[in-house]
Amino acid sequence: MKEKLVLALTLTAATMTMSQTQSFATNSGEVKITPLVHASTMIEAAGRTIYVDPAKPIKLDGLPKADLIVITHLHGDHFDPAAIAALRKPETVIITPANVASLLAGATTMANGETKLWQGWTIEAVPAYNLVRGPVPGQLFHPKGRDNGYVLGYGGKRFYFSSDTEGVPEMRALKNIDVAFICFNLPYTMTPEEAADAVRAFHPKVVIPYHYRGSDRELFRTKLAGSGVEVRMLEWYPK
Ligand code: ZN
Ligand code: ZN
Repeated sequence: MKEKLVLALTLTAATMTMSQTQSFATNSGEVKITPLVHASTMIEAAGRTIYVDPAKPIKLDGLPKADLIVITHLHGDHFDPAAIAALRKPETVIITPANVASLLAGATTMANGETKLWQGWTIEAVPAYNLVRGPVPGQLFHPKGRDNGYVLGYGGKRFYFSSDTEGVPEMRALKNIDVAFICFNLPYTMTPEEAADAVRAFHPKVVIPYHYRGSDRELFRTKLAGSGVEVRMLEWYPK
C-alpha cells in the first residue's frame, strides 16, 4: 500500500515536470524544453538530449542520459559533478568555461564569444557577469570574462540561456532571439525590473524567467507589458 502511494506521488511529480515542457517548431523539427529546477533545463530534439546546468536538487529519476551537457559557471546551483556523473555517457559532450573544465575530466572549453557546432546545433558562448553586485566592495559575484551564457541555435531558432548575469551590454545587443531564459534574484544577479529592461532592449519573441527564487515574477511581467514580448511563467521550483 505504502509502495503504491509512493509510486503514485512519484508519477505525479514526473507528470507535473513534463507538463511544463514547451514545444517549439523549427526547420529541423520539434525542440522540446523542460524546466527541471532553478536553472537546470532539459532540451530534446531529434532523439538527442541536452542539459543546461543540471544541478542539485535536480530529480534524476527517469531522466534520459545526456548527449550534450552545457555548463554556464562553477557555482553549485549550476555545476554539480554528481548530477553530471549521473547523466553522462562515455560519448557525452560537455561544454564548460575554462575554470569548470579544470575540475571535470573530458570537458570541452568555451570562452566568451566562441561558437561551436554540435549535431546540427550552433552553440554561442555569451558573456555573463555582474556590473555592480558582489560579496564585498571591489568584488563581483560573477566577474566579467569567466562565465558563459549560451545561445543555442537549431533549425533556424535561437534559444538564449542567460546564466547568472546582470543586464550587460552583450545581452542587450543580442539579435534574433526566439526564446530567452532570463535569470533574476538578489543579491547574485539582478532585479525583476532590471531584467525586464534588458529584455526590452534585445526583444526576444518569448521570455521565460528562471533562477528567480524568491523574486517577484509578476513585477517582471508588469514591466514587460505592452512590449510585445510574450512572458511565459513556468514552475522551476517543484515541491
Ligand atoms: Zn552564479
Ligand atoms: Zn545561480
